[in-house]
Amino acid sequence: MIKAIYPGSFDPVTVGHLDIIKRAAGICDKLIIAVGNNKAKNPLFSVDERVSMLEDVSSEFPNVEVESFNGLLVDFAQKKGANVIIRGLRMISDFEFEFQNAQTNHVLDGSIETLFLATSPEYSYLSSSGVRETGYFGGDFSSFVPPAVYDRVKARMDDITEK
Ligand code: ADP
Repeated sequence: MIKAIYPGSFDPVTVGHLDIIKRAAGICDKLIIAVGNNKAKNPLFSVDERVSMLEDVSSEFPNVEVESFNGLLVDFAQKKGANVIIRGLRMISDFEFEFQNAQTNHVLDGSIETLFLATSPEYSYLSSSGVRETGYFGGDFSSFVPPAVYDRVKARMDDITEK
């Protein structure tokens, strides 16, 4: 039985994240998308808003649920009885950070494996920060995020830029 956690900031969720969710849901019995509640990152969306957007875009997958978490990822994984952490890899530049995190988590709890999924090539350029930056400066980011998320990012950007 594979019970996996897919952690991230998802500020906001992109079609690259959704691709990983879809593929991970296909190989895991149960997938918990875990939204980090890290206020130090000064997110565009509150953790509840990010959870809600992820619930919308993942509702078609019956074995996927969405939660927020605080603190250490391995503590959350233990609490949930999860044995796998899923992370996406876009390019070499992701590798160093991800490798270090996976090894740290392995030292903290050797029973939890980190599984990396390579991004589908069409999404390898895509990041939440790219969505935020493109949106902020009025660029077309409609192909970067699922349609329901687009409307919410657009509305938030309109709020910010009006001020
Ligand atoms: P974090 O702040 O934890 O890196 P993100 O929301 O930026 O959170 O990313 C969450 C996970 O999704 C990470 O493993 C990241 O590498 C992966 N990811 C982000 N964008 C993509 C993408 N375009 N394709 C595949 N994986 C991605």
